[in-house]
Amino acid sequence: MFISKSFIPILKNNPSEAKIKSHQLMLRVGMIKQSSAGIYSWLPLGFKVMKKIEQIVREEQNKIGAQEILMPTIQSSEIWKESGRYEDYGEEMLRIKDRQDREMLYGPTNEELVTDIFRSSIKSYKSLPQLLYHIQWKFRDEIRPRFGIMRCREFYMKDAYSFDINDEEALFSYNKFFLSYLNAFKRLDLTAIPMAADTGPIGGNLSHEFIILAETGESKIFTDKRIFDLNSDGTKLEKKSLEDLRKKYEQFYSVTDEKFNKDEFEKKVSEQNRLKTKGIEVGHIFYFGDKYSKPMGGSVDLPGGKKDFVKMGSYGIGVSRLVGAIIEAKYDEKNEVMKWPISVAPYDISIIPMINKNDTSALEKANKINLEFKKNNIETIIDDTDENFSSKIKKMNLIGAPFQIIIGKQTDGDLLEFKELGKETKKINLEEIIKIIKEQKEKN
Ligand code: ATP
Ligand code: MG
Repeated sequence: MFISKSFIPILKNNPSEAKIKSHQLMLRVGMIKQSSAGIYSWLPLGFKVMKKIEQIVREEQNKIGAQEILMPTIQSSEIWKESGRYEDYGEEMLRIKDRQDREMLYGPTNEELVTDIFRSSIKSYKSLPQLLYHIQWKFRDEIRPRFGIMRCREFYMKDAYSFDINDEEALFSYNKFFLSYLNAFKRLDLTAIPMAADTGPIGGNLSHEFIILAETGESKIFTDKRIFDLNSDGTKLEKKSLEDLRKKYEQFYSVTDEKFNKDEFEKKVSEQNRLKTKGIEVGHIFYFGDKYSKPMGGSVDLPGGKKDFVKMGSYGIGVSRLVGAIIEAKYDEKNEVMKWPISVAPYDISIIPMINKNDTSALEKANKINLEFKKNNIETIIDDTDENFSSKIKKMNLIGAPFQIIIGKQTDGDLLEFKELGKETKKINLEEIIKIIKEQKEKN
């Protein structure tokens, strides 16, 4: 992509309305544009990043055997009346009427709709477990939309639902998602900590929020620092292995403020391991048994001929919020340098040729390099404008491709000025550059 032809409307200065760095950067570099309060359009740069995050989340859902579907954004109020949540959900639900005066709503979540889909087709325990997910826009009429896409009204969410024959199997499903979340966040280069959480309006009895640390986060957290050293390496998609993984995390005190208890915290965590801080909720998983299947009649035939209501869980990831969360974690706002993890970077590498009116040889060289990158599936952004060098660098630092090549007067022969953001510049040839980038991409 050439800067001159791109739709990346960069602002000279930070927009004054943005209070946190992700919102600042996203407006500054033209990733999003507000369309009305808490509702945004996604421009090419932001959309590219979000789609890459979505794809990673999708792959990790598929790996645990979840099947992708797509439910509509507009739902009928009927099923919400069946579950009893139509009245309970309150002002956050956007309620609308169609031309026949039927009560409809813009889905804030999909437990009812997916239960309706399930009950119409699945009749026997033999078809269980069922793990279904979709990635779709949600609408919640938040009382205080703020921080850009971090807390907005229309947002993009991956929500999954599990259906099982009994508690034991349902817990197995829950733990599969637990693993899938840890793996997805790791691929996004984020350390997301699972924390025991309240179940809120979704209801139920077992729940974890996945939180990444950030000063600007809205969740207060209390945790044992040692939890940060854990990972999911070696976990198998088997009951015992998954159970062990969850227990490994649960041995360390780690809760949000709703579950916080000072005495317990101080008793369970030694002083040097105590951490009170703030974080961003990027995912939330719940187990709630037959809370929806019972009122809505979601049951299956059991082996002995009896029937029972299926046991359900639901599992959300804030795909659009993750774009902001990654910026909160990775943006060096003092030096105005954003370095996207290669797994979601809008471009892998930027090329900055020094161009003046009489000499376009640097641009020609950039074009040649670009062709080689294309052959190797390396996504490139080239600054083909005749702006001065320092403003070109500034712009590319904000766009945040993790690698840069500068083609200037000093560039002679085969050696190129190459750097990974935040590291020293090296002089190496194109072949080596391609090797470095491909290696990093393959790690993911
Ligand atoms: P929060 O406490 O932040 O309001 P929630 O508990 O209401 O979140 P869930 O219903 O569990 O959220 O939704 C799953 C995920 O969707 C959340 O973990 C979060 O990442 C994302 N999410 C929820 N509300 C919003 C919002 N208003 N804007 C952007 N993302 C959101
Ligand atoms: Mg909420």
